[in-house]
Amino acid sequence: MPNKLSRRDFLKLAGLASLGAIIPPSAGLAANLLQNDKKNVLIVVFDALSARNISLHGYARDTMPNLARLAGRATVYHNHYAAGNYTTPATASLLTGTLPWTHRALRFGNRVKPELAEQNIFRAFDDYHRFGYSHNMLADIFLKQFAENIEGYIPQERYLLVNDGVIQNTFEKDADIATVAWAREIKRQEGFSYSLFLPYIYEKRKESLIKDAGREYPYGLPAVNLDNYYVFEDCIRSLTKQAIEVPTPFFGYLHFFPPHFPYKPRREFAGAFEGDFFQAVSKPDDIFTEGDSPEKLGKWRRYYDEFILNVDYEFGRLFDALESSGVLDDTWLVFTADHGEMFERGIQGHTTATLYQPIVRVPLLIFEPGNQTRRDVYTPTSAIDLMPTLLHLTGHEIPAWSEGTVLAPFGESSPGGVFTVQARNDPALPLVTASVALVMDNYKLVYYTGYKELGADTERALLFDISADPEELNELSRTKRETASEMMNIVRQRLDQANEPYL
Ligand SMILES: [Zn+2]
Repeated sequence: MPNKLSRRDFLKLAGLASLGAIIPPSAGLAANLLQNDKKNVLIVVFDALSARNISLHGYARDTMPNLARLAGRATVYHNHYAAGNYTTPATASLLTGTLPWTHRALRFGNRVKPELAEQNIFRAFDDYHRFGYSHNMLADIFLKQFAENIEGYIPQERYLLVNDGVIQNTFEKDADIATVAWAREIKRQEGFSYSLFLPYIYEKRKESLIKDAGREYPYGLPAVNLDNYYVFEDCIRSLTKQAIEVPTPFFGYLHFFPPHFPYKPRREFAGAFEGDFFQAVSKPDDIFTEGDSPEKLGKWRRYYDEFILNVDYEFGRLFDALESSGVLDDTWLVFTADHGEMFERGIQGHTTATLYQPIVRVPLLIFEPGNQTRRDVYTPTSAIDLMPTLLHLTGHEIPAWSEGTVLAPFGESSPGGVFTVQARNDPALPLVTASVALVMDNYKLVYYTGYKELGADTERALLFDISADPEELNELSRTKRETASEMMNIVRQRLDQANEPYL
């Protein structure tokens, strides 16, 4: 045994050390043998991954070749919707099976309403070994909130090369700077100290990684909150290993930051779409435009697409590792996103009042243990349906507080339409300044109320036939008056119901 450990040995040890944190000492083989009739569940979430930019869903760039390959063994949802437009409301909905106006995690950094803290997917799987990780602080807030039901909670910092001090990067978006300042303020209020969590080994690696970043990451190392760098492939590798080795049956929730802004793919993917012939559909600026030019949007879109290509590679690796270990044979694996991202109408990102398809349409693929055939579901489905579906598939009772339904083909699809709710900046308890999207069959209505951009109008409704017009170019509220008013009444009624307890 040499005195000095090689870097590989160091990393191995680091992996083992982190594994120790999520496996209780008494668990292990015996538990595996006793409970092997129950199937595991693993939800893999990629942050801000829009279904509109995925080749499997018709995008012109080949952004996800691995996903296309694996789709042959999955149930593929073609009209799946986030319940919120950014991490806080959308992730809370995914984890609670309730809409944002119910769980009330609406504003940046919110938790789920305290009275509902016991109503979450981790608790619903209380006979399973549960573990969870999120790169994104906003989703990590929920994991912390539900931590008493997550024996394998992994702190966000475990896979961050944390700086969290000076904002080093120059940035174009003031909103993001404000977000970072806010995030850090929350951490300070919690009395948070990174040094308690950061393994020494990672601290050492940070130096060399940041030094080597130019070579491995031509656009710079990816980071959360601007300067908390992370190494995507290390994180995936380590968490996949943990999923393979935890006691079964397990319920795992893994929330990865890519392809969220800043878009920084590894060198194999950086530049992959440079100079291609992709032409984005030209769209007029929205009333909520942020003034981004088509040239700027085109540039960001390309970086984003290249980061998706990186995500696709890493998901392929995760999938193959689960398969070769045999874990996949006993696991319901879910591939999805919390919300999407947009590059059109003068708007980049997802911190907008608008609820266009690139923001709200997210991928959902469910891999059934042992399944080798593809199924396609075209009816509109919601992120809030995931929890009841997974509970149903694993023989658990669906709690009465769940607002979703069991997804087709495993159950009946929801008859009442699919909602997305945004009220990020609403200072009041009742939703006064809000956007609500409702999808029913091939129609989507987006209702806006209370925004100063609406001018003299206090509300605005846009109607699209998303089946015939997926780019949302033909607004139909004047020509399809009856459909528009019918859907608007449903939205107004649901909004009134949701506001009632707060008036
Ligand atoms: Zn997000």
